[in-house]
Amino acid sequence: MLQQVDSNLHKKLLTREELDAYDPESESWQKQFARRYTHHSELTGVLNNLENVNETVYNKFAIAISPTMVKLMDRDDPNCPIRLQYLPSHHEESKPGFATSLDQLGEEGDTIAGTSVVHRYPRRVLFLVSNTCSTLCRFCTRKRMVSQPAGTVAKDQIEASIDYIAGNQDIEDVLLSGGDPLTFTDERLDHILGELRRRAPHVRFLRIGSRMVVQMPTRVTPELCAMLEKHRVQMINIHIDHPKEITPLLRERVKLIQKAGIMMGLQTVCLKGVNDSVEVMRELFMQSIEMGVRPYYVYSTDMVEGAHHFIVPHRRMLELYEGLRGWISGPAVPTFIVDGMGGLGKLPIIPSYVREEARPDGSGTTVKCRNYKGMTVEMPGLGQDFSLPTQSN
Ligand code: SF4
Repeated sequence: MLQQVDSNLHKKLLTREELDAYDPESESWQKQFARRYTHHSELTGVLNNLENVNETVYNKFAIAISPTMVKLMDRDDPNCPIRLQYLPSHHEESKPGFATSLDQLGEEGDTIAGTSVVHRYPRRVLFLVSNTCSTLCRFCTRKRMVSQPAGTVAKDQIEASIDYIAGNQDIEDVLLSGGDPLTFTDERLDHILGELRRRAPHVRFLRIGSRMVVQMPTRVTPELCAMLEKHRVQMINIHIDHPKEITPLLRERVKLIQKAGIMMGLQTVCLKGVNDSVEVMRELFMQSIEMGVRPYYVYSTDMVEGAHHFIVPHRRMLELYEGLRGWISGPAVPTFIVDGMGGLGKLPIIPSYVREEARPDGSGTTVKCRNYKGMTVEMPGLGQDFSLPTQSN
């Protein structure tokens, strides 16, 4: 079975009362998967002040929300940061003043023919194994494939991808992503990871990107962790955009992953109205590092169709970074990134704290350094080259 959930499982949506009493640990993740809300009308009576979006929204991107995430949503507030990420809005239909795309990152251009491997950087590849996620984010950068029938990754494509990686001794870093690789059954994932390790022993670093750990934490079981440990998966990057998503259940399941000796990193998308606030980001990254998950990247929202209303301007991202650097623990400060259009790759968004200036008297340059509080100090030595003369014998 390539795909993950038994489609015969009966879809029984939870009412508001049932959701209030719902314990996600009381049933398998497959059953929770089958209980996902897939139309905004299904949330009537569960959430108040719902937007009645036009059906055309569904032509562009489906809706699917796990009961765990709906339970986290504020019942009344349409601006709840969890609601904004997952509920469709009329903004998705408006025409922005710039070109949007379903493949802003130009991944298709770097995909090896017949495979689902995106080979853009030297020595590392992105291996897209699934086109499914447990809950769909309205700003998803892979709308071209996620939840799209045409985006299904066929079994022979996966085999061809493993062949490609096995045949390229230069590849030392493989990231499994999608969609979400954890939407596969343990057996299917066991097969893919096992074949990768068996046929590509030159791969030194094997990692997985998953938001399902957050959206459906009970997917993380002792059996899953034992299997990941067996295949020496070294890192799992999870995706959290707001501290509200960090629940006691998530903390518990993160510990299971860590006990298997797997490093954990955090990826965040900078989203207008959700987390474009210094206070929210400080709290998110400190909570993350508290549970041993190292903040890794904050991505600028990509210019994918229907996501323009989430974009935070570059200058605001610089301010947010400055609100973190020096103000919270150093290891809790992630790198801010914009993914360049058309395959340019990841580009850091970093404010300058050090600048070199010409001296007014024309006697060379000096370097001025600014700290997190805005205090500056001149460090003339940094503007000079102290290279030593070569010794002659
Ligand atoms: S979890 Fe990631 S891949 Fe899945 S819908 Fe959200 S952003 Fe897209």
